Amino acid sequence: MTERRTKIVATLGPASSRPERVAELLAAGADVARLNLSHGDLADHAEAIACVRDRASALGRACGVLVDLPGPKLRTGDLAEDYVVLQPGRRFILTRDPVPGDEQRVSTTVPGLADLVGTGDEIFLSDGEIVLRVIEVSDGDVVTEVMRGGTLRSRKGMHVPGAELRFEAFTPADRSALAWALDNRADLVAISFVRNAADVHRARDALPQDGHRPLLVAKIETRSALDDLDAIVAAADVVMVARGDLGIQVPLQRVPLLQKEIISVCNGTGTPVITATEMLESMVHSPLPTRAEAADVANAVLDGTDALMLSEETAVGDFPVESVATMAALAEAAESAAPAYAEILEPEGADDPVSWAVAHAAVQAAEDLAVAAILCPTQTGATARRVAAFRPSMPILAPSPRPETIGGLTVSWGVTPLPVEELPAAASIAEECERAVSAALGVGLVTSGDLVTVVAGTPGPRAGRTDFVRVVRA
Ligand code: PEP
Repeated sequence: MTERRTKIVATLGPASSRPERVAELLAAGADVARLNLSHGDLADHAEAIACVRDRASALGRACGVLVDLPGPKLRTGDLAEDYVVLQPGRRFILTRDPVPGDEQRVSTTVPGLADLVGTGDEIFLSDGEIVLRVIEVSDGDVVTEVMRGGTLRSRKGMHVPGAELRFEAFTPADRSALAWALDNRADLVAISFVRNAADVHRARDALPQDGHRPLLVAKIETRSALDDLDAIVAAADVVMVARGDLGIQVPLQRVPLLQKEIISVCNGTGTPVITATEMLESMVHSPLPTRAEAADVANAVLDGTDALMLSEETAVGDFPVESVATMAALAEAAESAAPAYAEILEPEGADDPVSWAVAHAAVQAAEDLAVAAILCPTQTGATARRVAAFRPSMPILAPSPRPETIGGLTVSWGVTPLPVEELPAAASIAEECERAVSAALGVGLVTSGDLVTVVAGTPGPRAGRTDFVRVVRA
């Protein structure tokens, strides 16, 4: 078992979805496979998910599946050629006419773009590389001057500051993508361009009442989301610091500080948080990262992130397996300097003070006694997440019979999910503890005679509560 506590999310794509490659990514340390529905086709994504499940079960370990919904991403339209180069100082028109684009103009996917902008506004193309300034709006077309030039390809991301206010984060297309994610039993579903907590609630309302319910990941990548951060963190199950789009919506120099702020809010409420985008970007084409990227990964760990994400590095890069291995090594090294249990501020636990107090007591007892592991038998994963929030120094083992709970826990700092057989509810706390200990012994994660702490909810119908702690010898 790895000593690493920080989890790794690896985006799958053409460079990484073949079965042998998936097996290598898992062996290198990937904990979660991300499918980005903004790219590729659904049949390929479904095949990749099946492959992840198959390889993970062959290796006898859990790998979560995160489906990232596209959201209302604004894009430029198709070009007549592969690309055009926009020169600074030239005019360029964002036209409402559905024409193939060239050096003079391009269509967009944004209905009524002309109503969203005014003279002097800046528009960012190619995910921020190209900057245009609006000179005039005429007859539905937006006439601009190229302020920063660059190469534009077909259907590239486009940012119009403030435009997200007009477009709901959880779009009708996302609703059908969510249905697809449910059919494919995704463990986590990410909502793009969340603006406020209501966007998360609308996505949650679209989940079935019974049956498979993935964790919802709120991607923080708009300015408005920053104004409603506390409520979004409370509404979401998991949060992602989506630095790529965030770094276009706010001045770049704010991104490192916002990363710290978002992680700190998540740590304070025990909400798992993923730090994403360009972490090892140079490894798309190089077998080694830059020193600056190495420092970025380490700093995210020191900030308190639960998980680190790779995007193009594993989806389309030349060194996907090396990227995961490098990230794993960097994270593990940084953990030795990360704040230890005693230095962690206590999470607030406003949702359920009793559960939080019991989880805290379990971790305190585990540290006082230097137990071998904390065992959290769980239906929903909530107890394991609460325990992880205190960043204990020993492994957190979470036996659960529910596949989506196992998958959802793959993103939580320090938690090793253990799939176990579904049994009738234990007759007593003692029996619950025996089952947890035998699951941990069965996979060799504790040894007979080890002292362990067991923390969970009293067996019965009140899933999600944490109300007992026992210290037992395995
Ligand atoms: C991001 O913008 O950082 C991000 C993770 O989103 P996407 O990769 O979907 O653009």
